Amino acid sequence: MKILADYHTHTKYSHGAGTIEENVLKAIELGIKKIGISDHGYKHLLYGIKLDDIFKMREEIDKLNEKYNQIDILLGMECNVLDDKGNIDTNDKVLEVCDYIMAGYHFGSTPISFDSLMNHFNNSTIKGKKAKEYNTKAIINAMKNNDIFIITHPGDKGEVYIEEVAKVAKDTNTNLEINSSHGFLTVEQLKKIKDINCNFIVGSDAHKPSDVGNFDVAIDIIKKSKIDVSYVKNIVL
Ligand SMILES: [Zn+2]
Ligand SMILES: [Zn+2]
Repeated sequence: MKILADYHTHTKYSHGAGTIEENVLKAIELGIKKIGISDHGYKHLLYGIKLDDIFKMREEIDKLNEKYNQIDILLGMECNVLDDKGNIDTNDKVLEVCDYIMAGYHFGSTPISFDSLMNHFNNSTIKGKKAKEYNTKAIINAMKNNDIFIITHPGDKGEVYIEEVAKVAKDTNTNLEINSSHGFLTVEQLKKIKDINCNFIVGSDAHKPSDVGNFDVAIDIIKKSKIDVSYVKNIVL
């Protein structure tokens, strides 16, 4: 397998263990030509980056791009899907400095309405149809209202109707992630959507430098689901 890019890696700027440069060095060691630094959006109560840090990260990445010309280093952000209206934690200034944004649902994101608070509660307790409908709407509207490159770990922590998500992903040209840390998309989800022909990206979701480019779990899922690998855009199997 050849890894063309790993767009999903965390650093000390959120709750990763390493620095940007340490993630880059691991990617270089593996021969990866493109790495994305994508820390948690600022509306995550526990792990969100400090909003001003995104500008520091941009400067750091610009310098590292000059230092290491064998690799392309990108600045991303893993925004939080905040409610069913399609709100995510980004703003014009963030979009201006980032090369791309991703978005995913996380328990620790700041509730921005009573319904979004209740949805966190439902996802962690009752689960069920109401939560599944809310989560599906949240991701679909996030894709429609924002220019999102990748939806991270779809269905993790909050179940979704994956066929509906995949159809909108195809229409909006959004990649769905096969996340190698969380194991979402799952084999079962991929089997349900393999004829929708949306694109996929594998992400390590590395929280320490040694996990950058570790796609083992995702590769296993891809093989078991028997999807057409030409739709997985950042690996060559
Ligand atoms: Zn995540
Ligand atoms: Zn992540």
